Amino acid sequence: MDVGGTKVAAGVVDGAGVVLASIRRPTPDHSASEVADTIAAVVAELRADYEVKAVGIGAAGWIDADRSRVLFAPNLAWRDEPLRDEVSGRIGLPVVVENDANAMAWAEYRFGAGRGHRDLVCLTVGTGIGSGIVLGGELYRGAFGIGAETGHLRMVPDGHLCGCGNRGCWERYASGRALVRVARQIAASDPAAASAMLDACGGDAERLTGPEVTEAARKGDPAAIRCLTEIGRWLGEGMASLTAVLDPDRFVIGGGVSDSGELLLGPARERFAETVPGREHRPPAEVVIAELGSQAGLVGAADLARI
Ligand SMILES: [Zn+2]
Repeated sequence: MDVGGTKVAAGVVDGAGVVLASIRRPTPDHSASEVADTIAAVVAELRADYEVKAVGIGAAGWIDADRSRVLFAPNLAWRDEPLRDEVSGRIGLPVVVENDANAMAWAEYRFGAGRGHRDLVCLTVGTGIGSGIVLGGELYRGAFGIGAETGHLRMVPDGHLCGCGNRGCWERYASGRALVRVARQIAASDPAAASAMLDACGGDAERLTGPEVTEAARKGDPAAIRCLTEIGRWLGEGMASLTAVLDPDRFVIGGGVSDSGELLLGPARERFAETVPGREHRPPAEVVIAELGSQAGLVGAADLARI
């Protein structure tokens, strides 16, 4: 299962990471018990046709070290929610709960762009930055289960305000939301330069979306390319700092903004190479696009429930 603020995605996943069947439902937004009811109903539906042994839930929130409780979920009704027991009580199967970005990283490590790379960082660049870290072939969770939140590394003291309450977090500079902010700045200061992006949103920069910026960049619009370049450079800057601590040999980049491919990765690699510590004396980490797309979360969660 992959449970986020807007959708509950579920799939039957075999031992090779192949999704045999899948279902999507909107996430109920009223109460935690309704979310558990929805999860149980979806599992029952999939069990009608498949023999299900266990359920892994990738959840958009902070999960405790026992992988049973959701401590906090900014976009869901969960506050110190005993999700594992609530769901297993309803369905009578073993349940494992994992942070959704950790589940995605695990899926890329096991079956996707991170195969064979035992020290890797997976960054999901969407509205914010989700991240998962695999070290020595194990998912890194931290002492309390809530490590690997790299999107909240403070990159700019007193910078843009973040949903976490701090200022200057990395995800305020290298995410879909940042992409739109940079594009709107260009539209405000130089409307002629931003004309292709403004055409895409009917002339109202406040309605401009990340995919519209990416689409304009793909068609060669210089202003949109500039926006992705700025986001990519911030991405590379943060990857360089992470490398000082973790020394991964591969970064796997997923999420909606990664649909822009080399328009994002090119500047990220360039800035990474310019700023990584000891750059003339270390092998460079590879930076590649994720392979599993929107199913990574449920594939990773399923695999974590199996092992
Ligand atoms: Zn933050």
